[in-house]
Amino acid sequence: MSAKPNVCIVGSINMDLTVTTGKMPMQGETVLGDEFFTNPGGKGANQAVAAARMGADVSFIGAVGNDPFGKTLLDNLSSEGIRTEGIEMIPESATGTATIILSENDNRIIVAPGSNNDVTPGAVAKHRDLIKNSDIVLLQLEVPMETIVSTVKTAHAAGVPVILNPAPFQPLPEDILETVAYLTPNEIELASLQNDPLFASIKQKSIVTRGDQGVSFVDNGTEREVGGYRVQVQDTTGAGDTFNGALAAEIARGATLEDAVNMANAAAALSVEKIGAQGGMPTKQEVKTFLQ
Ligand code: ATP
Repeated sequence: MSAKPNVCIVGSINMDLTVTTGKMPMQGETVLGDEFFTNPGGKGANQAVAAARMGADVSFIGAVGNDPFGKTLLDNLSSEGIRTEGIEMIPESATGTATIILSENDNRIIVAPGSNNDVTPGAVAKHRDLIKNSDIVLLQLEVPMETIVSTVKTAHAAGVPVILNPAPFQPLPEDILETVAYLTPNEIELASLQNDPLFASIKQKSIVTRGDQGVSFVDNGTEREVGGYRVQVQDTTGAGDTFNGALAAEIARGATLEDAVNMANAAAALSVEKIGAQGGMPTKQEVKTFLQ
């Protein structure tokens, strides 16, 4: 066992394919764009990188295709010190991609989940020791819902708490909402949960991210608000993922909820000062220096 806190993530791994253009193509039209670039992404992978940079020992249950993107993304996670033995390489699937068309006043995104759909309950069962040996499990909603359900059950049976980031939003089964330790919706996702019959209890365990306004959460029955840090905003992509990864690392370390939220709020604020989702994620030392 390592002395570091153990975070297990069950989630998505994507390659983001971005093209910038002065003109968004109309139906049937072809235009010449400006730049093209690729970036590692996927909420699961992003949150894993954030948790690793915050000093956690991170293991990952996921899947990539047996293609060049898959190999690059596995290397990227390994280079961050993330344990990849729970990531299957699926020969018959393409690695997940997000194709992003970016113009000055518009963006259009198509996500092709590909091998993220191969993260099945069977894969979770195969790698269940990674869950059992972790201090906390962190989940998002970019792998099949049945996998979310089986992960929550496996973690619960092993007495390991779960943080569920309900993004991209989908309705969640009742027993999952009852079992997870924390939910981390943003304000829009919280509004989507508002009509749920369990909303009162959901609220008690929700840590709500509110962009530049910071975070609100309930600590032992008391509602708390933590203001956002004033920073030079460059790119807010991945702010939520940085928050979740840092929160998981801190809770796994045994920090109080208040301290964990403060660290995650600072880590996420620092991340928006740099371009790119993973590119902007700070190390623990950088967060400590920022807070001094
Ligand atoms: P995204 O989908 O862009 O990753 P999100 O909608 O999941 O983000 P937000 O609530 O926008 O999540 O942001 C998450 C956290 O990041 C906030 O709670 C805050 O700590 C930090 N943050 C985001 N934007 C800013 C900002 N402009 N200034 C300071 N902190 C920010």
